[in-house]
Amino acid sequence: MLEKIQQLTEEAVAAIEQAASSTDLDLLKAKYLGKKSEILAALKSLKDLSPEEKPKVGQLVNQAKIKITNSLSERRAVLQKASQKATISKEKIDVTLPARGPRLGKHHPITLVLEEVKKIFKEMGYVVAEGPDIESEYNNFEALNIPSFHPSRDMHDTFYLKSGDLLRTHTSPVQIRYMKKNKPPFAIIAPGRVYRRDADVTHSAVFHQVEGLLVDKKVTFADLKGTLSYFLHQFFGKNRRVRFRPSYFPFTEPSAEVDVECIMCSGKGCRVCKESGWLEILGAGMVDPNVFKAVGYDPEKYLGFAFGVGIERLAMLKYGIDDIRLFFENRINFLEQF
Ligand SMILES: [Zn+2]
Repeated sequence: MLEKIQQLTEEAVAAIEQAASSTDLDLLKAKYLGKKSEILAALKSLKDLSPEEKPKVGQLVNQAKIKITNSLSERRAVLQKASQKATISKEKIDVTLPARGPRLGKHHPITLVLEEVKKIFKEMGYVVAEGPDIESEYNNFEALNIPSFHPSRDMHDTFYLKSGDLLRTHTSPVQIRYMKKNKPPFAIIAPGRVYRRDADVTHSAVFHQVEGLLVDKKVTFADLKGTLSYFLHQFFGKNRRVRFRPSYFPFTEPSAEVDVECIMCSGKGCRVCKESGWLEILGAGMVDPNVFKAVGYDPEKYLGFAFGVGIERLAMLKYGIDDIRLFFENRINFLEQF
């Protein structure tokens, strides 16, 4: 019995020293110290032994258990160290590689275009005026000569709020607010977000406009034409042809739509300009006397012109972007191009 235990212990220690993984060690532990192991069986058979043998066998079994347990933990430590070493050498960091610089933030194309438009008008003496996104129906429509029965209200696809107010459909109500508080002469631009229930590749429910208004005693359509031609030449380049077409807006009379020679084909005709060679850019006109009356100005005394331009449209043409939704998705690979 004693010899058997001795032999088993030596066998176990030898096997443990050869073990290649912690799984092997688990198996060896079960084999030599587990419930079904021969060493444990020896412990169970103590009751059948003579009184002289009992202590000797008991002591040897305990020694065997300690020896096997110790060699298991020694071997486990050795294996752990080796695997750590292997991991470290595999995941070596090459400190001589060039560093990757931090990615810098960039201005959104809408911001870039807004800033450029503001800069051009500021150089002409315009000041920036701002107003709230939530407007009264009066400021957004009535005061701008768009009464409730007016057919152009349908075109605006307005978001109404429970209070009866609305999300402004254009930045024109800023003109009303400004005129109520200030006396002419002045020249303002009103940049900002506007909202319409309308969305596809060229329309978004939220978009940006810059509205302009100049009021003084002697203002002519020629002033309007000169101002907008100058702006478009600054923005799209001096050689772009510009044309004015008669149009209709409730808040201006007479009204015009302003086209610029197609940026994509230089007037030859393409898909973007629908083969016309021209792109519609601005709406403009002389301020309707009814608008002046709404803010308490004497229409016999004052004249003015107003215009509006869509910022997304300018940005799409300037940068050749064909889907308005790209402006709002905020994908880094899109934004990094500007
Ligand atoms: Zn074209």
